[in-house]
Amino acid sequence: MKKLFAFAAITAAVAGVHAQDFPGSKTITMVVPFAAGGPTDRVARDLAEALRKPLGGATIVVDNVPGAGSSIGAAKVARATPDGTTLLLNHIGMSTIPTLVRNVPFKVETDFEYLGIVNDVPMTLISRPTMEANNYKELTAWIAANKGKINLGNAGVGSASHLCGLLFQAATKTEMTPVPYKGTAPAITDLMGGQIDLLCDQTTNTSPQIEAKKVKAFAVTTSKRLTTPLLKDLPTLQEAGLKDFQVTIWHGLYAPKGTPPAITKKLNDALKVALKDPEFIRKQEGLGAVVATDGRIEPEGHKKFVAAEIAKWSPIIKAAGVYAD
Ligand code: ASP
Repeated sequence: MKKLFAFAAITAAVAGVHAQDFPGSKTITMVVPFAAGGPTDRVARDLAEALRKPLGGATIVVDNVPGAGSSIGAAKVARATPDGTTLLLNHIGMSTIPTLVRNVPFKVETDFEYLGIVNDVPMTLISRPTMEANNYKELTAWIAANKGKINLGNAGVGSASHLCGLLFQAATKTEMTPVPYKGTAPAITDLMGGQIDLLCDQTTNTSPQIEAKKVKAFAVTTSKRLTTPLLKDLPTLQEAGLKDFQVTIWHGLYAPKGTPPAITKKLNDALKVALKDPEFIRKQEGLGAVVATDGRIEPEGHKKFVAAEIAKWSPIIKAAGVYAD
């Protein structure tokens, strides 16, 4: 027993020494489980910038590890050395993947240290610029007339666009052909080029393209209309007749399970500073994101929120019959 205590004390002391200096000259890698240039990547790059100062000028690099709707990148972080130098920035997929995907290569509840929620982001339903319809009503008629021929992009099974697309198909009782990408950056490029018809994606990715008229926008997925000047005239899908339709994407920061508490505290403290950074807020809010300020920015609040989101989404996904293989 004595030996055990001695070992624990040594481990704590070693962790303490490391924690004091953390990150020191070490580079922090923030894994983004989607392609570069997309909305999750965008949050990560803005956040990496805002975290640099509160982490003593640390070098933070973003590493895109896309594939399988974020499962590949998340699993990589779950297996990384728990020393604070490998982090994961992921979205709502952390709470929908356990229901949507059959063999998840990590355990959301037990494989991570939760470092805090970063933001909430509405989604928009958009189409290729050549779409015949010009408003949601016309889009409904177009969908009805084109059953069996509609291509709907997504960022892989378990991604936010996948979830939104599945819920949209269930609500409109229409089957569309899913076209998976490694993120919605390549998906929106194909949408602009007319290779696919529809996409549901975060405003942080769609706003610039809506503004440039490179895509058409039909509705937002939140229960209330947005206030951003560019998007304020878009109806909610609820208003458009899809009762109870509501999806808001959130992003959170994670470290591998077992990262020393002194290091997770440093990271959470730095995150809370970053979330108040005026430049970070300006960039995020300009694209329709709402930077988190509530109890979810604390590790316990973040963990509770993800558990609540799993409990919320699981019956909705099951009721909609939107499992994916
Ligand atoms: N917005 C994407 C999704 O559908 C992911 C991304 O590329 O950030 O989950």
